[in-house]
Amino acid sequence: AKTPLRVAVTGAAGQIGYSLLFRIANGDMLGKDQPVILQLLEIADEKAQKALKGVMMEIDDCAFPLLAGMTAHADPMTAFKDADYALLVGARPRGPGMERKDLLEANAQIFTVQGKALDAVASRNVKVLVVGNPANTNAYIAMKSAPSLPAKNFTAMLRLDHNRALSQVAAKSGKPVASIEKMAVWGNHSPTMYADYRFATVDGQSVKDMINDDAWNRDTFLPTVGKRGAAIIEARGLSSAASAANAAIDHMHDWHVGTNGKWTTMGIPSDGSYGIPKDTMFGFPVTVENGEYTIVQGLPIDEFSQERINLTLKELTEEREGVAHLLKA
Ligand code: NDP
Repeated sequence: AKTPLRVAVTGAAGQIGYSLLFRIANGDMLGKDQPVILQLLEIADEKAQKALKGVMMEIDDCAFPLLAGMTAHADPMTAFKDADYALLVGARPRGPGMERKDLLEANAQIFTVQGKALDAVASRNVKVLVVGNPANTNAYIAMKSAPSLPAKNFTAMLRLDHNRALSQVAAKSGKPVASIEKMAVWGNHSPTMYADYRFATVDGQSVKDMINDDAWNRDTFLPTVGKRGAAIIEARGLSSAASAANAAIDHMHDWHVGTNGKWTTMGIPSDGSYGIPKDTMFGFPVTVENGEYTIVQGLPIDEFSQERINLTLKELTEEREGVAHLLKA
């Protein structure tokens, strides 16, 4: 039997956590033959810790064959100990009257502490996914706070945007979602992200040619994908949690298992590709093999796409500048 892998999850008693943990324990993330140990972090607050205990009782009651252990934590230094995978879901939501700047700063504190803790105690190969918003900037902060870990092991979740784009294109083209290859999403996990189906194919045929409607791309597709989170809050009265958890599972699954030459989207520190400044935590089309992702190179960027990429890059640069003073300390 395989040695269990340690999976740390923060914000474990939250909405996304409630959809996520059961699927990790069920083997959806790392494989149906891979035992896991869950190391769950919540804030020290008594209510949060109590809620976490309740979730753990339910996980116990599932009697998951692959669950080799489970612990509750209020301190990242114990939660991240020897972690092979870390899903950083918990983040500070925007409170009433809170400015964007305050939100960035509150989260910068959390992700500085968590980056340092990962640096100190996690496996030297820990693979980190940041889900908590602003996800790209939070991932950047954690990465910069963990200088002894490889920067490439820090990633941000763009997969929900990717999956949303796939679903919209499938509906428009009438093709099954599973048949669509070569989707890409560029940039920040925010309404500025640029979902790009110019290269997408179904059975080798161009999806763009099939749809053949630039106005739909600009006026319907991009706003629909970009504002999908808000549309779900409006409809459900709560934010998207199950689909966010599903995207986190997909992201980690593909990072662990590989994509077999197929494209997916990950938010990763740029290596300078496509003119994105080095270390910017940016959504790129990637393929994954043996636990290592590679940016899909050589894609032509037309004028419209360049404008969209510049816009999302500008937002990320501003976010980063907004927290730069906290990283110097
Ligand atoms: P959720 O579980 O719904 O969301 C958690 C984070 O994921 C939020 O930052 C949220 O961003 C983000 N997110 C990213 N993509 C999506 C998406 N597509 N849809 C919805 N959310 C998305 O939040 P809860 O408030 O239910 O739970 C958060 C938990 O985290 C709480 O239990 C809290 O105690 C804990 N927490 C833990 C911390 C820690 O471990 N140190 C620090 C802070 C909080 P957005 O806000 O933009 O919706």
